[in-house]
Amino acid sequence: MPPVIDREKCLGCGVCADVCPLQVFSYHRDKDKVPEVKRPYECWHCNACVLDCRAHAIELRLPLTHMLLYVDADTLKPKDLPVR
Ligand code: SF4
Ligand code: SF4
Repeated sequence: MPPVIDREKCLGCGVCADVCPLQVFSYHRDKDKVPEVKRPYECWHCNACVLDCRAHAIELRLPLTHMLLYVDADTLKPKDLPVR
C-alpha cells in the first residue's frame, strides 16, 4: 500500500518529497500545505519517507511479502535487523 499522510500532523516541510527516490509525492512549497501522493503505484516501500518525517505523519502499510521479512509476527512490530 502506498504512503498515507495524516494532514493534521503534517508540518508541510516537504522532506518526504525530497527523500523519495521515486517521486511518489508532488509538493510545491509555494502553494501546497501537504504533499500529494501523486504516483502511489511507484512506491517500492523503502520506508525513507516514514523514517525522515519528524512529525510521524506518514503511514506505510507494507505488502505481505515485506511484512514476512521485516515485521515480527508475534508483536507486529519491526524486527531488529542486523547492521551491516
Ligand atoms: S515529511 Fe512529514 S511533515 Fe514533512 S511534508 Fe512530509 S508528511 Fe508532512
Ligand atoms: S516508501 Fe520510499 S518509495 Fe515509497 S513513498 Fe516513501 S520514500 Fe517513496
